[in-house]
Amino acid sequence: MVNYLLLITAQLDNLTDFQPQGGCDDPNFTYYFKLKCGNCGEVTQKETCVSLSETVPSTKGKGEVHLAQKCKFCSREGTITMITGHGRPLTYEDSEAAKFAPLMLFDCRGFEPVDFSFGSGWKAESIDGTKFNDIDLSGGEFSEYDEKGECPVMISEVRAMFNVAK
Ligand SMILES: [Zn+2]
Repeated sequence: MVNYLLLITAQLDNLTDFQPQGGCDDPNFTYYFKLKCGNCGEVTQKETCVSLSETVPSTKGKGEVHLAQKCKFCSREGTITMITGHGRPLTYEDSEAAKFAPLMLFDCRGFEPVDFSFGSGWKAESIDGTKFNDIDLSGGEFSEYDEKGECPVMISEVRAMFNVAK
């Protein structure tokens, strides 16, 4: 069993507190990524999606997990369980310093998560406090105009990585 911490960063222009719509442990936020088999090294072609609110019985008979899947190539079974309480919003200061913010911890058995994709369901706030909801980043960018702060706001250069957590 290995835990992988998902970290994200982005270029935030006049925005801060970039995070899932319902906060970092949003039960309905969907995470999209691919799986690399720990046995044969095959990477799934299709993206897997998991969310905190959806669980399945573990194939190994130990309670509920967020994903249970078989490698299409070698048939090895793997599971993923999400562990809450590890995320925080990405701030304007993080963005300026090119720092990553942790988002979610994944307990992975048999698979390694790779290639996280930014989908929809994000939110952020302008420096002047205007809230921007239901941001869709599947196209990689978001731009709007903050009427209150009278300035353009933008999210671009989104990047993510999975780090092995000790
Ligand atoms: Zn495999």
